[in-house]
Amino acid sequence: MRTGLRIEIRGTVQGVGFRPWVYRLAHELGVAGRVHNHARGVTIAAFGPAATLDRMVARLREPPLPARVRELVAAPIPTEPGEEFVIVHSAEGGPRTLSIPPDLATCPDCAREIADPADRRFGYAFTNCTSCGPRFTIATGVPYDRPATTMAPFVMCPACQREYDDPQDRRFHAQPNACPVCGPQLALWDRDGTPLDAREPIHAAAERIKRGEIVAIKGLGGFHLACDATRDETIAVLRARKHRDEKPFAVMVADLPRARVLAELSAEEEALLASPERPIVLVRRRVGGRLGAVVAPSTDLVGLMLPYTPLHHLLLAQVGGPLVMTSANVSDEPICADNTEAVQRLGAIADALLVHDRVIATRCDDSVARIIAGQPTLLRRSRGYVPRAIALKAPVARPVLAVGAQLKNTFCVAVGDSAYLGPHIGDLDNLAAFGFFETAIARMEEVLRVTPEVIAHDLHPGYLSTQYARDRSAVLHVAVQHHHAHVASAMAEHGLVGPVLGVAYDGTGWGPDGTAWGGELLLVHPGRYERVATFRPVALAGGDLAIREPWRVALALVDDAFDGAAPLARIPAFARIPARSIELVRQMIRARINAPLARGVGRFFDGIGALGLRRTHASYEGQLAVAWNLVAAPDDHGAYPFDITDEATLPAIDLRPLVRGVVADLLDEVAPAIISARFHATLIRATVERVRAAIAIHGRIPVVLTGGAFHNPQLADGIRRGLADLEVHVHGDVPPGDGGIALGQALVADAVARHG
Ligand code: ZN
Ligand code: ZN
Ligand code: FE
Repeated sequence: MRTGLRIEIRGTVQGVGFRPWVYRLAHELGVAGRVHNHARGVTIAAFGPAATLDRMVARLREPPLPARVRELVAAPIPTEPGEEFVIVHSAEGGPRTLSIPPDLATCPDCAREIADPADRRFGYAFTNCTSCGPRFTIATGVPYDRPATTMAPFVMCPACQREYDDPQDRRFHAQPNACPVCGPQLALWDRDGTPLDAREPIHAAAERIKRGEIVAIKGLGGFHLACDATRDETIAVLRARKHRDEKPFAVMVADLPRARVLAELSAEEEALLASPERPIVLVRRRVGGRLGAVVAPSTDLVGLMLPYTPLHHLLLAQVGGPLVMTSANVSDEPICADNTEAVQRLGAIADALLVHDRVIATRCDDSVARIIAGQPTLLRRSRGYVPRAIALKAPVARPVLAVGAQLKNTFCVAVGDSAYLGPHIGDLDNLAAFGFFETAIARMEEVLRVTPEVIAHDLHPGYLSTQYARDRSAVLHVAVQHHHAHVASAMAEHGLVGPVLGVAYDGTGWGPDGTAWGGELLLVHPGRYERVATFRPVALAGGDLAIREPWRVALALVDDAFDGAAPLARIPAFARIPARSIELVRQMIRARINAPLARGVGRFFDGIGALGLRRTHASYEGQLAVAWNLVAAPDDHGAYPFDITDEATLPAIDLRPLVRGVVADLLDEVAPAIISARFHATLIRATVERVRAAIAIHGRIPVVLTGGAFHNPQLADGIRRGLADLEVHVHGDVPPGDGGIALGQALVADAVARHG
């Protein structure tokens, strides 16, 4: 007997070939009815025998990637006559769930076409289909249809239109569908923006790169600066022009076999590199490999990625070797995305620009990921992942905007039971980044058709994000403590309602007492928290200067541990520091002038790393911390002692015994690898002990590890092993560092909005 079913589907179901797949499925099963897109997702009306409709529902739950079904609700409806199944055009209206997918890496079918001289898309840099291509970065509104993208000005040629209209075609309703006849075109410009007579712009750009030039290349979410990754002298020029001393550059290689030549890859790392999201994956460089040390000075960790647009495939095929592909910006400004802006901002860095005439609607930097504790962990969640929703355990009471922190900023909009983290904005302390922050928030609100009623921000009054939040009108503003937000972001990711014990280890975050927090154990319910342990603080002489000059932290640690009677003359890290500078730092600490106390676990890595590595300066934040982690010997070499002392009724992990142990080992000329291993083991033991002490009081509740210090795989692994009998969660889809904090702010603000 013929019955009817209305099937509501939510998830990543627009712009990924979902409707044509439903169409083909209906034809295969002999089901009549219709399917249409709307702002909340996809709705199907299906008519046929009940058993057939059941089979259809079962199949619908598992669509081919990259489509994903998050929620499927089926309800009976009266049957209708007719034998056809049709695709109905998108209907306007109905707010609140964003079904725009993230940008997708070129699929194997499209990659084959551009390499096939017989194909009409041979060598065409903007080839895409329903399984791949730009999405979020070209979307200007919802529903996600061609008129609401930056492909709107390109009128499809008859051949493309036929593909677009044919439900059996791979390009049926592929919104960015294009070909050399009708689609976007490349051009090669000189640094002043003057078009160069390059009939084959990709070939000409490749020739320049092979000659040792730097070429700015317009990609999916912005420009890259590209050059030959094996030419040390070119990379040195790039560093000088970009004002970037030592921070590693990302490298793009044509395929996995070529990646294996440069780095030692695990199976998990290879899978992550080849995933449709195509993040930059941090991996260990192969010793003595082809990648010059200049790509990533004084670290063995390099960021590799595989091509994710046809342009990348074509370019790498011409260049052959690995390319440096670094975000095109000066220092901490946002990634450059507009052609005119590129000439202004990149003209002094690049020798030429490879541009095109498809507009980037929203900038989106490359994402960065690393395998931590055997799982992919996003360290920067942006292109390829944004704006995929994070499903919340319970819907938010009112729409929330959370504006994130100051550094590595991302924002988050939560509506219903979905949270949308925005693209990586970067450090808000420059004007350009702040402008990007404002426009990206406006765009997200526009595509979600939402006006946030609750606005969440950091407790720090000086953050530009905080000031932006306060300037906006809302029903409720909620200030969220930094580490509370870190823990809440892990709770949101794992659907934990609390209470949980949160191990929040990072660089710094404003505490309600006006001091910098950074190594905190918190008992967290969504809307509130209690601090259960911290670290004995260390003075940062010179404030932020101490982050660039970790010897200052090292000196403070050593003086504290030895009561000022440390054998400084025999500690190598201080050998090159003038006595006058040492005296000055000591005076600052004694007089408490510009020497704020910090508890950031990152600072202990800096300071002890400086001692162990015999280094005094860092050219970017966290440089020594990463190096200190990488040097650690893998085997068990024991640990140093530590104390628990009271910090105004709060137990504090006191690392003075550790510092004395480190100094003793240095004087005994113990290898840095072993000192680092012992340092890690001590932090792990101290953390495990404090967590167990808290569990003894508060019961067996889940534990989450969060904060930028958990970019360190050894720390996360070690604590997990030490707490193997407990439920311990680490981050995966949401960054452990400040790039994930907005999600936690949103969750906390919602809880406050509910319960006051
Ligand atoms: Zn494709
Ligand atoms: Zn065409
Ligand atoms: Fe943080």
